[in-house]
Amino acid sequence: MSYRIDPEFRKELGKFGVGSEWSECYHCGNCTATCPLTEEKILFPRKGIRMIQMGLKEKISAYVEPWLCYYCGDCTKTCPRDANPGELMMALRRYLTSVYDWTGLSRKFYTSKSWEFGFILFFAALVVALFSVFLPLRPDAEQMVNASGGVMINSLIAGMSPSTFVSVIEWGDWIMAMIVAGLLISNILNMFHKIVLSDHSVRVPLRAYFIGFWKLTFNFLTQARFSKCDNRNYWAGHLLLMTGYSIMFAVIVVLLPEFQTEEVNPWYHWQRLLGYYATFGILYFLIITAIGRIRRSDINLRFSHSTDWLFIIMLGLTTITGILVHIFRISGLPAATYYTYVIHLAVLVPMILVEVPFSKWSHLAYRPFAIYFSELKKAGKPRTADIGLAPAIS
Ligand code: SF4
Ligand code: SF4
Repeated sequence: MSYRIDPEFRKELGKFGVGSEWSECYHCGNCTATCPLTEEKILFPRKGIRMIQMGLKEKISAYVEPWLCYYCGDCTKTCPRDANPGELMMALRRYLTSVYDWTGLSRKFYTSKSWEFGFILFFAALVVALFSVFLPLRPDAEQMVNASGGVMINSLIAGMSPSTFVSVIEWGDWIMAMIVAGLLISNILNMFHKIVLSDHSVRVPLRAYFIGFWKLTFNFLTQARFSKCDNRNYWAGHLLLMTGYSIMFAVIVVLLPEFQTEEVNPWYHWQRLLGYYATFGILYFLIITAIGRIRRSDINLRFSHSTDWLFIIMLGLTTITGILVHIFRISGLPAATYYTYVIHLAVLVPMILVEVPFSKWSHLAYRPFAIYFSELKKAGKPRTADIGLAPAIS
């Protein structure tokens, strides 16, 4: 199989925050010797640098290794040319996210701040407009406090019963979940096509799909890849973030009527404890990541792309406004609860519709599947010799 060389490829990568340090690489092989991911078939990360230097755009699209990198930074520390291979892998993940996304929006969001901000502001304005016109605060909202002193949040809408309000929010959650799931699944299928199906040099036996599947589940649930990193905070942060997210997803999409009730449960109720755990998990991740990026102390947080900060800010605002809604509710303040709830949704909705399928968050979905696809390729039997540039770049 032959590959076309694209001389403009380096310029294109630059738009995704890929610096030019990689051009300093003279292939000494230190990074490959240092990287814990190096295996017989994975000469990592030097092989990727070589492909970029040669302008092999098409081949990079099928390159799975950047997703296996957990950014320990060892390669960057040992590079005698300061080619920064670790950061290159990070930037390649941004580029590859845009390659998998068939809508083209991911590319727009990664390469243009106005596109990303524009979409976020559009969805935020839509939420505010919805509450101003169709779901306004009822005039006697101050009466909507139950016997235990908590705000009856589902009764704050003028002319709407509590059960109807919960149904409206629940339907909105399901519609968003289906849109996001549809986008992510179709992009993951695109990724599968590029990484596995388009590789005609190997044939993957059917049983490998089943055997490798448990690794996908295991890696998603445990974020085990990050546990290889010397800095255990990084792994703990990802694990807490993933479990916090999963709980929040269950709460706001699957179990909303059970969670968003008129009664405020006591603090030791299992629903509140789950909510506190999820909030703690997300906050912990946000705090260690934000501090790391400000201090630039760890090598993996030294360079921040604008989308890294936008992700932290959006998730931080969603979490803080969610905490405020809870505090105002249990303090018996209906108007404050209502307005903060609207602000909370005005941040949450764009975060889900923009960040999850198209931007930084999508890494959480792509990485476990990349590990799965890489296992499939490892289990594949050679079909024909790869007569492209493989020998030259291994
Ligand atoms: S990136 Fe640095 S360590 Fe790796 S092969 Fe190139 S020069 Fe050597
Ligand atoms: S940063 Fe990634 S490529 Fe570099 S040594 Fe660590 S795992 Fe390997």
